[in-house]
Amino acid sequence: MTPKQPASAELSSITPDDMAFDRDHIWHPYTSVTHPTPVFPVESAHGARIRLADGRELVDGMASWWSAVHGYNHPQMNAAAHAQIDRFSHVMFGGLTHKPAIELCRKLVEMTPEPLQTVFLADSGSVSVEISIKMAVQYWRCRDDERRSKLLTIRNGYHGDTIGAMAVCDPVNGMHSLFRGIMLEHVFVDSPECRFEDEWDERYIEEFACTLKEHHRDLVGVIMEPVVQGAGGMRFYSPHYLRRVSELCKEYGILLILDEIATGFGRTGKLFACEHAGIVPDIMTVGKALTGGYMTMAAVICSEHVSKTICDRSAMMHGPTFMGNPLACSVACASLDIIATGEWQEQVANLEAGMKEGLEPCRDMAAVADVRVLGGIGVVELKQPVDMQVIQPRLVEEGVWVRPFGKLLYLLPPYVISKEELSFLCAAICRVVEELSSPEQV
Ligand SMILES: *Cc1c(COP(=O)(O)O)cnc(C)c1O
Repeated sequence: MTPKQPASAELSSITPDDMAFDRDHIWHPYTSVTHPTPVFPVESAHGARIRLADGRELVDGMASWWSAVHGYNHPQMNAAAHAQIDRFSHVMFGGLTHKPAIELCRKLVEMTPEPLQTVFLADSGSVSVEISIKMAVQYWRCRDDERRSKLLTIRNGYHGDTIGAMAVCDPVNGMHSLFRGIMLEHVFVDSPECRFEDEWDERYIEEFACTLKEHHRDLVGVIMEPVVQGAGGMRFYSPHYLRRVSELCKEYGILLILDEIATGFGRTGKLFACEHAGIVPDIMTVGKALTGGYMTMAAVICSEHVSKTICDRSAMMHGPTFMGNPLACSVACASLDIIATGEWQEQVANLEAGMKEGLEPCRDMAAVADVRVLGGIGVVELKQPVDMQVIQPRLVEEGVWVRPFGKLLYLLPPYVISKEELSFLCAAICRVVEELSSPEQV
């Protein structure tokens, strides 16, 4: 019998047969297997580069959806994963504990604002949002207030794809009509009109304030993304709005849940986006960059007041199989150690300056509605939705990995991207947007 090829070789070389199987049998995010959009086989990834199976190298503009902030194949992160896998990859977290989880939670308690003291480790961002909602519900149940069942949120939000999280996503983007009848109905107000840099006017908070006043007795909490609304439209709103939300929540004794899954760990130019407003939530969710894009893991961190209220009477009723996975905790510790060096501050400032300059030429192009940059987030909003069948291969041809959605071409490069790579990325975007702006396209 001939020995089987080593698994590493099997996994690295993609054949045409593999691609056919992928097309016919595998769902990619938000896709159809009967009308598939193109997918590109990856052979390896390093720093801010993704190498395709055909040898082409792409400059990464996505950090794998906000997560791979330190770039791919990072020596320190690799070392953390190797060291842990040789000890143990996983043990159950019920009744057992281990150093990687303790270290990670210690770091999270230290990094997040002072009142946030208790950590619940979750398996993904969406699940952490579910847990944050359960936490808010249990908080009120433990205060003998059984009636409350709703959340208040703003439109254009995104909090994940599980059913509970979907119910607080934007009703249109979040496909509420498709899932009508199986989701809880929450209370929505329009998303903030005031842009990040706009001068504050109290009328911006009027609708939120009136709605909170009307519904506060039915609410377990307010949930929103701080300052940046990510997948729901890449909108940047005024920190003053968030500050007023926090004040109003305090006034009515309503819990504030901030979803920092996309914004946490420096992406907006502050360690956490709530710092733009100088406020602290009662419950915070983090994910994505938490493990530097290595593994799936998220966390919910709540104030001592919330955890004490629940635990004096009850226990936190959640406990996934892979809770506190040691491998994920170890790479998360390595990711947070890199964040703790503070290097991200200069890197994100450079990203902001580079994208402001590099994307500016798009502003006057016919196809463009708006260009905006905040921290390490660059957005070119078009007037019309893009055709993914056309634009995705075009971007790859330009040597960049950028994944637009709807009318949005956006960049979230790894913090470690070089100045040259960033200019290359922005120039590629400009060329593609210019084509979309040519007379025969518009
Ligand atoms: C990505 C994201 C989530 C969901 O996280 P998953 O790990 O994809 O489940 C939730 N909230 C926000 C703000 C996100 O950006």
